[in-house]
Amino acid sequence: MMNEEHKLSRRQVISGLGASLAVAAVGPVFGAEAGAAGAAADPLEDPTKKYPRPPFKSQQQPWPGLAGQMDPKPDHGEKSYKGSGRLKGRKALITGGDSGMGRAAAIAYAREGADVAINYLPAEEADAREVIALIKAAGQKGVAIPGDLRDEAFCKKLVEETVRQLGGLDIVVSNAARQQTRKSILELTTEDFDATMKTNIYAPFWIIKAALPHLKPGSAIIGTTSEQATDPSEDLYDYAQTKAATTNYVRSLAKQLAPKGIRVNGVAPGPIWTPLQVSGGATQEKLVKFGGDTPMMRPGQPVELASIYVQLADPQASYATGQVYGAAGGKGLP
Ligand code: NAD
Ligand code: MG
Repeated sequence: MMNEEHKLSRRQVISGLGASLAVAAVGPVFGAEAGAAGAAADPLEDPTKKYPRPPFKSQQQPWPGLAGQMDPKPDHGEKSYKGSGRLKGRKALITGGDSGMGRAAAIAYAREGADVAINYLPAEEADAREVIALIKAAGQKGVAIPGDLRDEAFCKKLVEETVRQLGGLDIVVSNAARQQTRKSILELTTEDFDATMKTNIYAPFWIIKAALPHLKPGSAIIGTTSEQATDPSEDLYDYAQTKAATTNYVRSLAKQLAPKGIRVNGVAPGPIWTPLQVSGGATQEKLVKFGGDTPMMRPGQPVELASIYVQLADPQASYATGQVYGAAGGKGLP
């Protein structure tokens, strides 16, 4: 009996395989004849030549900076990211969703079928408006909730407002951060240190705590950490240790929440072309050569990490928790 079933299923598998091979064989021909869009493969692209390389123009913006005023403008996938329904019906909150990695994630999530709420600072309204328009153009709900994450009461309000406006919450991307270069620890004031800790360590703590009662099994939490967590720069004394803390909370919380069916993962970017770097995150000296010391010889663009944020939120990645996925152009550890 079991043998019969086994044979039957083997036969079915083989005939199924034959059928799909047949489809594969005629697929391209049919596609060419019909002129179907997307039938042709995307051409291979050399990743070292895909995006701008240093030297970059020296440029400085007041913190927190705007993507729209960078030269060259970062690529967040506005024209390139293609979705395939991987996050259909999901409801996501992304902090720092106006620019950089947060914006790339917001565009990708919307095109994968998710409704998205973004948080940002009021000074970033111009960038945020573009993101909301892109989310809506993807046919999804886009909610803008500006406010300062250094305030615990605001973090709680942010989560409640997201849940109210989206009708739930199942993906939390804690991505906002403060990075200000200081040559010496002697130049780092207590106010500076405090602002970095509040933004990068306290805010995720407050937001995740507020979000947890709303997260059902199958939900995902994603933190943006950095290669700085394991390979800290001499001029990022405060920032680098917050990223070590981020990598650490991802691993701790993943263990704590796995039995509840909630996954917690991190993304660790290398040098990426974002406003954070031109608004005090890097020295001008570092900026003109930005990313040139990676094996790829260029910085990454936010869009190059979009698929990682999607992957970690995708229910198909159900066994991945406590992981940190990197993208650093060949340099750095996750
Ligand atoms: P970004 O400037 O585009 O994004 C950072 C965002 O943080 C800002 O848009 C802003 O909205 C938000 N933010 C900062 N302080 C805030 C506050 N007090 N209240 C509310 N929002 C606040 O830069 P990015 O590089 O895309 O940064 C996103 C994440 O990537 C950060 O966690 C950063 O540490 C991380 N990262 C960046 C790089 C890089 O090279 N750009 C490398 C490794 C990690
Ligand atoms: Mg911004």
